[in-house]
Amino acid sequence: DVHALNICAVEVVAESGARILSLASGLDDALFEHDGQITKREIRALTLSALAPRRGQLLWDIGAGSGSIAIEWMLSDPSLRAVAIEVSAERVARIGRNATQFGVPGLVVVHGGAPGALLDLPQPDAIFIGGGGSGDGVMEAAIAALRDGGRLVANAVTTEMEAVLLSCHGRLGGSLIRIDIARASPVGAMTGWRPAMPVTQWSWTK
Ligand code: SAH
Repeated sequence: DVHALNICAVEVVAESGARILSLASGLDDALFEHDGQITKREIRALTLSALAPRRGQLLWDIGAGSGSIAIEWMLSDPSLRAVAIEVSAERVARIGRNATQFGVPGLVVVHGGAPGALLDLPQPDAIFIGGGGSGDGVMEAAIAALRDGGRLVANAVTTEMEAVLLSCHGRLGGSLIRIDIARASPVGAMTGWRPAMPVTQWSWTK
């Protein structure tokens, strides 16, 4: 019967070692190949929520690192497209491997530094800046490139990048949140909260 068939299929998948992905954003960090520079699961879930993908839209993930944001954007719906821009050659190669692993080979990866690397790209509906946004002209170039009505989300962990976001918020409005996450982990035989670095997130609609 159908029920028995379903159980059988699940067991076959589990035995094959295949990964069964949640449909929600904020997948386990360990599912991505990364070198520590990755937007952590909880922050990533909030970031995708702020990026608010709509059918058919194009994302620029500037300073893409492992590619986790662009990949989760594309996993949200098959119609979504993304360009990952990354200055490190090692990370560019890693983004390609992650895209293959997650079954989104259509992710376009650009090896280069923003703002220069943004020049010839198709106009985005949404932009995420997860690193490098404090560099000269990056925020300005992103703001200029975004289409009217598009969304820009930028995360800061450094005070330098935070200063840029505070200034953007003061000048352009939008919404500013601070995300403090702590995870319970062993302290000797007991358990205690280990705080992650706080993340300041600015979201703005052009
Ligand atoms: N969101 C990523 C993590 C980003 S870490 C993830 O989830 O994996 C920030 C990244 O920005 C680093 O990989 C760094 O190499 C890259 N970067 C810094 N300045 C940049 C620039 N000007 N242009 C492109 N990439 C940049």
